Amino acid sequence: MSRPGRSCVWYPFTQMSETAAAPFLSIVRARGNYLYDERGRKYFDGVSSLWCNLHGHAIPEIVRAISRQAATLDHSTLLGLTHPWAEELGRRLVSIAPKGLSRVFYSDNGATAVEVALKMAYQHWQNRGEPHRTRFMSFRLSYHGDTMGAVSVGGLDIFHATFKPLLFKSVKVDPPYCYRCPLKLKFPSCRYKCLEAVESALKRHSRRLAAFVVEPKVLGAGGMIVQPPGYLARLARLCRKYNVPLIADEVATGFGRTGRMFACEHENVRPDFLCLAKGITAGILPLAATLTTERVYSAFLGRYEELKTFFHGHTFTGNPIGCAAALANLDYFKARQVLKTLPPKIRYFRDRLETLRGVSHVGDIRQAGLMVGIELVRNVSSREPYAWVEAVGRKVSARMREDGVLVRPIGNVLILAPPLSSTPAELSRLVAATRRGIQDVLA
Ligand code: PMP
Repeated sequence: MSRPGRSCVWYPFTQMSETAAAPFLSIVRARGNYLYDERGRKYFDGVSSLWCNLHGHAIPEIVRAISRQAATLDHSTLLGLTHPWAEELGRRLVSIAPKGLSRVFYSDNGATAVEVALKMAYQHWQNRGEPHRTRFMSFRLSYHGDTMGAVSVGGLDIFHATFKPLLFKSVKVDPPYCYRCPLKLKFPSCRYKCLEAVESALKRHSRRLAAFVVEPKVLGAGGMIVQPPGYLARLARLCRKYNVPLIADEVATGFGRTGRMFACEHENVRPDFLCLAKGITAGILPLAATLTTERVYSAFLGRYEELKTFFHGHTFTGNPIGCAAALANLDYFKARQVLKTLPPKIRYFRDRLETLRGVSHVGDIRQAGLMVGIELVRNVSSREPYAWVEAVGRKVSARMREDGVLVRPIGNVLILAPPLSSTPAELSRLVAATRRGIQDVLA
C-alpha cells in the first residue's frame, strides 16, 4: 500500500476508499520492541503487533528454533499422522494450563480456537444425550474473532450487526463495565449487583445452554473493559451452579499479558475450555490451541460408526514450525523468568498511567497488566462520549506515530499493549507520547 494505485491487497478492517489519500505505513523490518518503515524510521511497537508479540521481534532463540524446524520438518498433517513437536507442545501446555485441562486441539488463529471450543461444547452435549443444549451465552461488547461462530457469540454490533441474519442466536448479558455501569452503581459498594442479571439469565436458559463464552478479566476489543476483582470467580461459580461449561477465551489475555500466565489464574478459575492463540508462539507465527477437560474429551469416545468423532480440522492444524516457535516461547519464559519480571513493570506502568488522570478528555484508564484502555470523552464530569465518527482515537494515534510510537485505537479508546519485554524507559515514553497525542489533538 506504500504505492497507492498499485496495490491489489484488500486490507482487513479497512475502508479501502480512504487508503489512496492516506496510504498505510509500510513496515519492512523489526528488532526487539521496534518496527522500522521503508525509510528507516523506527517505531515502538505499542500494541505488540495486535497484542501478540511478547518478547520483542527477531528474538534469536525463537528465530533459531523456527529455522531449525523449517529445515527438519516444515509441515506434515495431524490428520492421520503425528509429529513429536505437536505431542511435546500438548504436554507442555497442559502442564502450565489451569488444572483440569488435559486435552489439546490445535488450529491456527484466535477465531478458530473459539470455533473449536463452540463446536466441541455443542457436540459433547449431543454425544451425551442432551441435544437441547444448542445455545451459547456471552457478553455484550465481547469479541471472539470474525468467523461466523465467533461473531455469533460476539457482542460488538458495529462490526457484527450486518451479519445478524446469518448468525446463530446467543443469549447476551451485560458485562461489568464499571465506568458506565448500567445500574449506576460503584464498585465495591455495588456488591456485584450486575451478576444478579447474569444469574437469572443462566437460571432461565441453563437447560438449553451449551456453554458460556467469556474473555476472562478483560473484554479486549470491546475497549479494554477490565472486570473488577472477584467478578470472574463469581461468574465461574455461577456457571458451575447451573451446570453450564465455561469457555475462557484467553486469545488476548494468555501468555503473561495480564501479569500471570493466564488471566484465569488471578481468580483460581478452572474453565472447561481454554482458547489460546496470539502469544502462544510469542506472537510470531499463527498457531492456536483449544484445551479441554477429560470429561468433555471422553464424550467423543466410542466406536467409529457411532459418529461421536469430532469432525473438525484445518490444513495447518498443529503446524510443526508453529509448534517449535511455541516450544521456544515456553523455554524463553522459563529461561528468562519472564513472569517474575512482570509485577514491577506493571506497577511502574500503572504509576506512569496515573499521571494521565486529570489530562483533559481522559475519562477512564483501565489496566490489566500490559493491556490498557484509555477512554477519551468529550466531557470528563458528565462522561459524555465522543461520537464514533469523530474518530478521536484514530487522530490521537496518528499524532503518536509522529513521536515514533505505533498504537491502534478502538473507537474512542486508546489501546496500549506493549510487549512484555518493554523496559521502564519505553513504558514511560509510551505514556508521554500518549499524553502529547491527547493534548495536541483534543486541546
Ligand atoms: N478472541 C479474542 C479475545 C481476541 O482479542 C481476538 C483477536 N483480537 C480473537 C479472539 C480473534 O483472534 P484472531 O484475530 O487470531 O482470529
